[in-house]
Amino acid sequence: MTYISTRGGGEPLSYSETLIEGLARDGGLAVPAVMPTVDAATLEGWRGLRYPELATEVLGLFATDIPRDDLARMTADAYAAFPEEVVPLRSIGDGITLVGLSEGPTLAFKDMAMQFLGQVLEYQLERIDSVLNVLGATSGDTGSAAEHALRGKDRVAVFMLSPQGRMSAFQRAQMFSLDDANVHNIAVDGVFDDCQTLVKQLAGDVAFKQDHRLGAVNSINLARITAQVVYYFWAWLRATDESGPAELSVTVPSGNFGNILSGFYAKQMGLPLRRLVLATNENNVLDEFFRTGVYRPRGAAETVATSSPSMDISRASNLERFIFELFGRDASRVVAAWRELDEQGFFDIGDDLPRLRDEFGFESGTSTHADRLATIRSVHEQTGELVDPHTADGITVARRVREEGVPMLVLETAKPQKFAETIREALGIELEYAPDVRAMLDAPQHVTELPNDADALRAFIAEQALSPRAE
Ligand SMILES: *Cc1c(COP(=O)(O)O)cnc(C)c1O
Repeated sequence: MTYISTRGGGEPLSYSETLIEGLARDGGLAVPAVMPTVDAATLEGWRGLRYPELATEVLGLFATDIPRDDLARMTADAYAAFPEEVVPLRSIGDGITLVGLSEGPTLAFKDMAMQFLGQVLEYQLERIDSVLNVLGATSGDTGSAAEHALRGKDRVAVFMLSPQGRMSAFQRAQMFSLDDANVHNIAVDGVFDDCQTLVKQLAGDVAFKQDHRLGAVNSINLARITAQVVYYFWAWLRATDESGPAELSVTVPSGNFGNILSGFYAKQMGLPLRRLVLATNENNVLDEFFRTGVYRPRGAAETVATSSPSMDISRASNLERFIFELFGRDASRVVAAWRELDEQGFFDIGDDLPRLRDEFGFESGTSTHADRLATIRSVHEQTGELVDPHTADGITVARRVREEGVPMLVLETAKPQKFAETIREALGIELEYAPDVRAMLDAPQHVTELPNDADALRAFIAEQALSPRAE
């Protein structure tokens, strides 16, 4: 299996090569040259597998340049820190089942892919005898998932920028309590956008980037997308039996279109998913796109801070991979759409609009702060269960579009403990933290404060970065 660019340029890459390259050389995103498929008999044969074994099967279709035994070892190690079941399913009534993706170390679904990425990155760096200094900006979940996945690795260091004083106490503790030598928390005197601008400045400085082996593990990373495909297969196999309803729908709380893209890939591969329901919060560029066919990213000023903050996006970086399939894998149409967007601030898929639902099964909806609170309350009243605000956005939209007789899965993307203020607002209760979480919140914190200045950041990285041994 090789990987080509959504913009049609550059040489095809292997799976391992895409890990470190990030963007394709022409600025596009890496996609499988041919989408792998899974037939019904193979799918049935996977029923008895444990999660890491299923992950080896599914990822083996993508990572064809990694020997099977090595892949099996990596999936076992990636999910060792999870409970035995890794991804538990639980019904909350009304034909809705939650798919628990937040059982990992940072209590959000990003651990599912990041833990695997940590394994495969170290493995590949070993193979090519190199090192990588991961530079990123975070406003919460991504940074902590990356740090927990990469901590203690020999060939990777993490430099994670966050806006000083603007993360929740929980998010700060999750990152800053780590004391591994290869994890560098940097609190920038600025807002999240300033952090992102600094990352772009350094990543755009080709000489600096090469000298210091800088890389990224952001949401366009192909290993993350493929690792997320696994749990769609898992959830389908758990929610059906040999005789049961073969088709079911999935609702995905969405931001950058990473998670639901993986569901789309699973469907393309042959998994019987009926609807892929995209749920947004008030930052609903994607709901707008799936309803109207017009994609109009927003500026920072039009992007609002909500109580489901991990979905507060202004543009959806992975949408390009879907557009590529929508346009029949015609890269020139992708390039034309992006040119249109540059010129007029939006593009319009026009006649292709009905295909989003009829051919690809997409549906979408928006959930607001009031919806979130009402859903957290009603789920709690009906089942005694607590759900986090992002999952509540998913449940809100799922309830609206659910079809009689078609089971609906909703992906649980975070644990409520991460968002205690919203739970308090909805239910008037204080959450109890488990002892290990309490210990994390009380642990000493490790963070370097830097001004919002690219040269200060350059100097810090130059001093702390890992460098290749034999040079
Ligand atoms: C990142 C995140 C999302 C959005 O996922 P995308 O892949 O960006 O669509 C939703 N919920 C939570 C809790 C997240 O951390």
